[in-house]
Amino acid sequence: MKHIGILGASGSVGMQGLDIIREHAESFKLVSFAVGQSVDVAQAIIDEFNPEICCVQNEADIANLNLDGKQTKVVFGDKGLLEVASYEKNDILLNSILGSVGLRPTLHAIDQGIDIALANKETLVVAGEIVMQRAKEKGVNILPVDSEHSAIFQCLNGEDSKNIEKLIITASGGSFRDLSREQLKDVTLEDALNHPNWSMGKKITIDSATMMNKGLEVIEAKWLFELPIERIETILHKQSIIHSMVEFNDTSVIAQLGTPDMRMPILYAFSYPDRMPRNAERLNLADVATLDFKAMDLERYKCLALAYRAIEVGGTLPVVMNAVNEVAVDMFLNGKISFLDIETLIEREMDAHDVIQDPDLDTILAVDADYKSRNYEV
Ligand code: MG
Repeated sequence: MKHIGILGASGSVGMQGLDIIREHAESFKLVSFAVGQSVDVAQAIIDEFNPEICCVQNEADIANLNLDGKQTKVVFGDKGLLEVASYEKNDILLNSILGSVGLRPTLHAIDQGIDIALANKETLVVAGEIVMQRAKEKGVNILPVDSEHSAIFQCLNGEDSKNIEKLIITASGGSFRDLSREQLKDVTLEDALNHPNWSMGKKITIDSATMMNKGLEVIEAKWLFELPIERIETILHKQSIIHSMVEFNDTSVIAQLGTPDMRMPILYAFSYPDRMPRNAERLNLADVATLDFKAMDLERYKCLALAYRAIEVGGTLPVVMNAVNEVAVDMFLNGKISFLDIETLIEREMDAHDVIQDPDLDTILAVDADYKSRNYEV
């Protein structure tokens, strides 16, 4: 029996993690979880899974939980979040919190020797070097949950990393893949939230439309697989059937395929190094019929170009890029800026930032907090 902890349990990935625990109740048990303000979801999780510890964001929400006859300890706030992340009975922590706020809990869990099923890509974007170093020191596995990184992880099974030529990360193109830059000027929030292939949370759906999601994934891949950024490519593949590929030095290319369903990478992270059966829709390539590919266009998808620039420069530049992106996406979701303003704001702040090289954790957290607290105007 593997004991699972979930941060961000009420979010899209968190809920799908609960699906996997439900499907494999003989192998996995939820022992700890955290939500933000979704107290109703927290109650439902407590009722169904009877976990040992739960964290809610606000202390006042604890009174709204019915814990009659339950053994679940309830904690709250940032401190509670760390308590859940590093809960001693966690064998694996699924970190599906949104944004760079996921960094501290990841490090806390690593320090306790808990394997991380990582869906929170911002953790590696802002502090990849520190996180991977710490994981190595503690002998902790960082198991990717992002579909692209899970694909690469699976393609690399049994391979020697010295034989990797390059990683090829596929991108569906998001909700606006068929629009020109000119047409992007007038797109609405509703259009942006309508992703063609994947069912995901709002932030990542917007990140997919701007292609920043692919930018974050390229940076995440650099740290996870320890490769120079020049050897991490992206390609447009609108069906989202090939989740990513690895090319080797002998010209062989290995790809991982499947239906677009986040529960598969979550299950693989939970069951690794084993696999477990799933009763789910299976890939039927005859039905799919065609797999399309198209070269990535960095002029069209400016946010991806910004991400490559951020990681090439390094230091605190990816931190700034990520922080401003988080704020800008939030402003777009709240109708305060237009879709194209997102990239404009990110580029402007990156241009103006004095990069600090080799930042320590405190510097990273300070820069992150600084850029998230600013008032941006377009
Ligand atoms: Mg992905």
